[in-house]
Amino acid sequence: MAKPIVSIAKGTDVEKMVEEVLAPLGGIRSLIKPKSTVVLKPNAGHVAPAETSVNTNPELVAAVIKEVRKADPKEIILAEAAAIGCDTMESLEVSGILKAAEGAGVDRVIDIKSDKDLINIPIRDARSDLTKIRLPRFLLEAEHIVNLPIFKSHCSMVFTCALKNIKGVVQDKVHYQMHQTDLAKAMMDLWSVIRADLNIADLIRPAEGFGPHSTVPVDFGCIVAGKDPVAVDATVCRMVGLDIDKVAYFEPARERGLGNFDHDSIEVRGKTIEEVFKPLWLPYLEGFEKYPEYEVDTEGACSSCLGLVQLTLERLKSLDEYDKNSDVTILVGRKKGIPEGVDPRKLILHGDCLKQYRKQGVFIAGCPPAEPHPVWAIVDRKDYTEIGPDLRERMGREAPFFEAHMQKLVRERDKKE
Ligand code: SF4
Repeated sequence: MAKPIVSIAKGTDVEKMVEEVLAPLGGIRSLIKPKSTVVLKPNAGHVAPAETSVNTNPELVAAVIKEVRKADPKEIILAEAAAIGCDTMESLEVSGILKAAEGAGVDRVIDIKSDKDLINIPIRDARSDLTKIRLPRFLLEAEHIVNLPIFKSHCSMVFTCALKNIKGVVQDKVHYQMHQTDLAKAMMDLWSVIRADLNIADLIRPAEGFGPHSTVPVDFGCIVAGKDPVAVDATVCRMVGLDIDKVAYFEPARERGLGNFDHDSIEVRGKTIEEVFKPLWLPYLEGFEKYPEYEVDTEGACSSCLGLVQLTLERLKSLDEYDKNSDVTILVGRKKGIPEGVDPRKLILHGDCLKQYRKQGVFIAGCPPAEPHPVWAIVDRKDYTEIGPDLRERMGREAPFFEAHMQKLVRERDKKE
């Protein structure tokens, strides 16, 4: 079987890099059919300006639109559904993507969240609890979907790039459902019905640190492309020094037949991994030794919840709630039993793995839970079982404290280096 090709370009001229990165894949005219409809799916999940690297670099979006135009498509559509609690058009505007796309001549911009023409697609051979998924007709009918993720650290997935970016083609209701089942498997189920045929990953200024919100952009100067999203993500991980054995969703992706991640089964073209290698600070896999004040039982937990608990402890510090709440025991992952005789207000049950014990402690629903809920559950000592509309307002209020805390962590890290 032919190996999937992953192409790496490095430079400063984004338009030239896009052309270069696609050349080893056959070039744009072989990738995009003439008179076809092409949907570009950037990551514009959050309301954040371009310099934060929370969203895809607008320059890359513009360069891809210009490149795709050379293949003479019928229509180029830019489409996105921002994260729960975020307004898609506001995200596209604040990120600079909307202006860049319009300037480059995009034909239509669609906010998937407000699209009414949806089709219920059955998921055959589903690995998560999802049996059907509601998707926009225009997306299902498009000849091409070009995935334009940015690489950044992510609390509930360790990192986000090609595979995770496709989660942004669903409306909030489906998004909730995906968190109520195994998110990694649900993501792969989604890919099985709506596969992007080309992935162009933004590593121009990827983001390290405590993403997805509190990111630290790093000058990296690369664009990575490939048809196989698993091979693209695995290659990107190798470029930034992330151990893919510690990331829970590569194996479900391979099992679902989405692609390869073994180094020897991928053909890297353009620049080599060694030529562009630059380790990024991805703290979600660092372990809990640096939080000795807290008892965290992580046995049986997967990387999604482990990252989230680390973020939670850092958020508690930023809100001056860390010491005040160190009387709790946090349980994560599937357990055969839980400690007996513990005050239920001091036992934090993090994630759906612990649903059966929900009456015996403070329960946080989700697989993994929504990002702010563990912090609130610990501070408020009450269950969080719904991803409610309160999310945005309270998160917004707390965000500046975490930003300041992040800056402190970055200064400490820089001092160590
Ligand atoms: S709830 Fe369990 S299965 Fe789901 S992400 Fe957390 S540890 Fe993994």
